Amino acid sequence: MKYILVTGGVISGIGKGVIASSLGTILKSSGVRVTSIKIDPYINIDAGTFSPYEHGEVFVLNDGGEVDLDLGNYERFLDITLHRDNNITTGKIYQTVIDRERRGDYLGKTVQVVPHITDAIQEWVERVAKVPVDGDNATPDICIIELGGTIGDIEGMPFVEAFRQFQFRVKRENFCCVHVSLVPQPKATGEQKTKPTQSSIRELRGLGLSPDLIVCRSTVTITDAVREKVSLFCHVEPQQVMSIHDLSSIYRVPLLLENQGASAYIMRRLNLHPHLNMRPKKFMADWKELADRYDRLLREVTIALVGKYTKLEDAYASVIKALQHSALAVSHRLNLKYIEAADLEMSMLAEDPCRYHEAWHQLVSANGILVPGGFGVRGTEGKVLAVNWARTKKVPFLGVCLGLQCAAIEFARNVLDMKEANSTEFFPETKHPVVIDMPEHNTGMMGGTMRLGLRKTLFKTDKSIMKKLYGNSDYVEERHRHRYEINPELVEQFEAKGMRFVGRSEDGERMEILELDDHPFFVGVQYHPEYISRPMKPSPPYFGFLLASSGKLQGFVNRGFRKSPNMEYSESSDDELCKITEGNGALSPSTASGIKMRASAGTVKGD
Ligand code: GLN
Repeated sequence: MKYILVTGGVISGIGKGVIASSLGTILKSSGVRVTSIKIDPYINIDAGTFSPYEHGEVFVLNDGGEVDLDLGNYERFLDITLHRDNNITTGKIYQTVIDRERRGDYLGKTVQVVPHITDAIQEWVERVAKVPVDGDNATPDICIIELGGTIGDIEGMPFVEAFRQFQFRVKRENFCCVHVSLVPQPKATGEQKTKPTQSSIRELRGLGLSPDLIVCRSTVTITDAVREKVSLFCHVEPQQVMSIHDLSSIYRVPLLLENQGASAYIMRRLNLHPHLNMRPKKFMADWKELADRYDRLLREVTIALVGKYTKLEDAYASVIKALQHSALAVSHRLNLKYIEAADLEMSMLAEDPCRYHEAWHQLVSANGILVPGGFGVRGTEGKVLAVNWARTKKVPFLGVCLGLQCAAIEFARNVLDMKEANSTEFFPETKHPVVIDMPEHNTGMMGGTMRLGLRKTLFKTDKSIMKKLYGNSDYVEERHRHRYEINPELVEQFEAKGMRFVGRSEDGERMEILELDDHPFFVGVQYHPEYISRPMKPSPPYFGFLLASSGKLQGFVNRGFRKSPNMEYSESSDDELCKITEGNGALSPSTASGIKMRASAGTVKGD
């Protein structure tokens, strides 16, 4: 097993996660099996109780683990399935050590950070690195370990010390270190400055770790003089200094790293066996195609995201990624409008009329409306209003988790005449509890008690756009994170008026997918399909939503969805034909080969 530790310098939030996953991508394309571990040095056991305001989205794994959103980057870039143990926190490590102490495992000893905590970290890494993460259950060859925060943070110290020891435990040829640092370019001087990078490397070395690659993050590519300077002052060869400047899309990051020889350097440094180092002929071709396609998009599709944490983009990281994957698949540039749900409410008209009208202007000019997941009452009335607009004006709509619940509330209030319809989450005494809590998931304990992770949804009928989008499979498996559900007792009333629950849990009790009759595209899902969307395998509900929002759904339906092995659908203005080649006839994320997107010149067939 080979290990690559990725550390950060100067400031956090400069794309360490994307760089680490990009490195993994090029290694994977070189024929190496890659897994990853993200270390978050906070004391929380997991990300489950975080507010999206502080940390961004909580990412959910197949096994129900609620983890840092960086694990989403690894899953998307590397097309792998991680487990809850792939996210290490200080809380998890201490809990392990304290449990052992209580059991008497250290009887007679004083339990200390060194060696007990540092040993526990090393054991955890060695154990988890071996766990298979792709479909064929093979042991990975390389584990990329990303240490959250920056070098020098107090919380990170035990981890840095653990890896200082680890490099000797696993031997030099099996361990290397990549340091991602910032090279600022202050306006006052106009020059790129290496001093912060020098300091953070000095700190890293002082703690006993030497960087093998230094990745400099900057706004524009670093000059040769800067590269030389980093090399000179940081005690590395110029070829060990990489430059990642701001790019048109993250799909370009692996390509840029590769152009600078990153994977070849790592392969040499880690003495990877020649049989592993067999580059496929079409090395990174998919990524290049993806990046080029992204840069060439001419037409735009405007999607309104009606949420609550719209100030912080990271709060909806996977939703935005899933929208981007699907926008690219339908050859449109995504123009995303974040609408603060509360701004749509009548109370805002009195408080700040400009804000109210601006929010409504954005909503009504969108091609599609998305209401994502969320918790708590604030903004829910605004979301219900947005749903009402989408339903009555026949604007394509996708409701995810809370979005589905809001769709049901809106329908109950305005079609079923249950004026006080609500969720017991927001109004426990409501006369019309359309959304109710699932008692076994409302235990009073907040951490890890929701209905979480991968669960099956069975289609109840063939008359369903979603079933077709999922490649006509009988069931789908998607990830969940919720505590409330549609009240099963009201389902008949909904269905009688045209809101059909076409997908349900295996026991038939939980409503998973709703569709509306007489609407171009009105879909709600209780699960979060965004978590398993991939750049080259867009999530079917998002894909359908983007097809509808870009006016292509009907053409797609007319051609029988994806029944032909080489389905093509096309642009009407630009000269680009987007060809979607299916692996095995289904768009379902559970189908391994999924979709490949290829851009080629071709005839133009309007939708
Ligand atoms: N708050 C809702 C629930 O717990 C929706 C959750 C979500 O959107 N993830 O059911």
